[in-house]
Amino acid sequence: MSDPTPPVIEITGLHKSFGDLDVLKGVDLTARAGDVVSLIGSSGSGKSTLLRCANLLENSQKGEIRFEGEPLDWTGTGHARRPANPEQVRRIRTNLSMVFQQFNLWSHMTILQNVMEAPVTVLGEDKAEVEDRARQLLDKVGIGAKCDAWPAELSGGQQQRAAIARALCMQPRALLFDEPTSALDPELEQEVVRVIRGLAEEGRTMILVTHDMRMARDLSSHIVFLHEGLVEEQGPPSDLFGRAQSARLRQFLSHSDAA
Ligand code: ADP
Ligand code: MG
Repeated sequence: MSDPTPPVIEITGLHKSFGDLDVLKGVDLTARAGDVVSLIGSSGSGKSTLLRCANLLENSQKGEIRFEGEPLDWTGTGHARRPANPEQVRRIRTNLSMVFQQFNLWSHMTILQNVMEAPVTVLGEDKAEVEDRARQLLDKVGIGAKCDAWPAELSGGQQQRAAIARALCMQPRALLFDEPTSALDPELEQEVVRVIRGLAEEGRTMILVTHDMRMARDLSSHIVFLHEGLVEEQGPPSDLFGRAQSARLRQFLSHSDAA
């Protein structure tokens, strides 16, 4: 029987250009509850742009975005197209927490303050409750002892785990990761991969842009290979890594060590 619950995120026919440069040329992307969808593809294929469109950080010119079945309302067309309803954008965006390659922690706040900031100021939640949750999340990602440290005092791996705790503290419906391990040395990378794997095992809904083909293969329920702004091939990791149909995908994977 098909799942009656609408996907957490459903993007259909998305077109996005920057001026004359067509970056997304009609892309579909669906993440159901509990899915881990990895986006792979060469640099410049549009992965970050797709993630930023999903999170409504970028406008797009054509195509639909649905969040838990609710279509985003648009006004205008083409390059003049904008989301029509700021309240809807705010609500959707607070439910899709993003983790960036460069961590993007606020340097003037302690780790605990970083994790507490958005739930308190954006969602208006009770400070004491948020603090309890923030401390638990920092424990969960293995840096409970670093609550009072400044971001600059942490390693890259610890900073990225703090950024993941910060994303989780918003209690989002889905997590979006853009190359979360790409800025890290290999040994620090693994501590972040372990945290992401734990989240996948908990059944969190995630969209993961990554160059780490081993992580993509091991954690994903579904993999989408983007090539020049189009989905060139997609499917479960066993299909994509075992028997890729597309010559471009086979070529792309031949440069990785997980193929
Ligand atoms: P990926 O994440 O797959 O490496 P991106 O989505 O970052 O690719 O970029 C896709 C294309 O869009 C690239 O050619 C890039 O130069 C271009 N691009 C991305 N962001 C912008 C922007 N803000 N303005 C103009 N061009 C952009
Ligand atoms: Mg990118």
